[in-house]
Amino acid sequence: MNFEKYFMGKIRSVVDKYGVKGRIAVALSGGKDSMAAFHALTKFKFELIPFYIDLGIEEYSKVCMEYAKKICDILGYKLQIIKLKDYGIDFSKARKKCSVCGTAKRYLMNKFAFEYDCDYVATGHNLSDALTFAFNNLASVNILNFRGMKPVLPGNKDLRMAGRFKPLFYLKDDECMEYVKMNEIPYCKEKCPYARDAPTIELKEWIHEMERKRNGIMLNFAKSFEKIEEMMTRQQKIRQCSICGYPSYGNICKFCKLRRKYGKI
Ligand code: SF4
Ligand code: ZN
Repeated sequence: MNFEKYFMGKIRSVVDKYGVKGRIAVALSGGKDSMAAFHALTKFKFELIPFYIDLGIEEYSKVCMEYAKKICDILGYKLQIIKLKDYGIDFSKARKKCSVCGTAKRYLMNKFAFEYDCDYVATGHNLSDALTFAFNNLASVNILNFRGMKPVLPGNKDLRMAGRFKPLFYLKDDECMEYVKMNEIPYCKEKCPYARDAPTIELKEWIHEMERKRNGIMLNFAKSFEKIEEMMTRQQKIRQCSICGYPSYGNICKFCKLRRKYGKI
């Protein structure tokens, strides 16, 4: 089987298994994975709405946005842009950058998809990311966070929650890179200036090292984690944030807590 067929087959297996269809908001970060996911999804019969979240991370956010615009021009789409500063949050002042970044991205992606009446928000998370996330949670004794260990999570309109779709869930970092190169997809090669603070880099290297020694172990891990996720009864019920009305595990969602910290609400 040629590589393109293999790559598209992995995505199709997710689409078919979960019956993904309809209107999909595609989160573009400018990096290789989200660009590859977007490019591949244009080959399906979806209605796609690409968007970019400008966190305001110095020059890096601007450069990434240019790449997101570039791929949209190539594929004939208009890029929607969301700015974190419009919510009163000044990223440069955030102490735990990666934590603020994660909370803001999750919240704004969902809000965008909900407001654009999308069935799903698609992200570029690949197999390497999914396993890194899972092992990081295990390392922090945070097993309740396993909800992300699935390629597709259903939405709930009553809770203002869009479905989540990770088309690259069964594809590794190097496979996404190969797809990008093969299709000459432009992407931002720069790393976020805070990447050195991310605690997950070493974990990802460790996972890839295991894969080099035992080919296929990553896919098996993902399948096992997916089963664990399915077997787990959630202890925490999702409800609506009492301030913004978007999904939250507590009375007030993490994003509103952030905005409150910045004195904006
Ligand atoms: Fe966000 Fe990643 Fe940069 Fe941390 S390293 S601030 S998580 S983009
Ligand atoms: Zn809220």
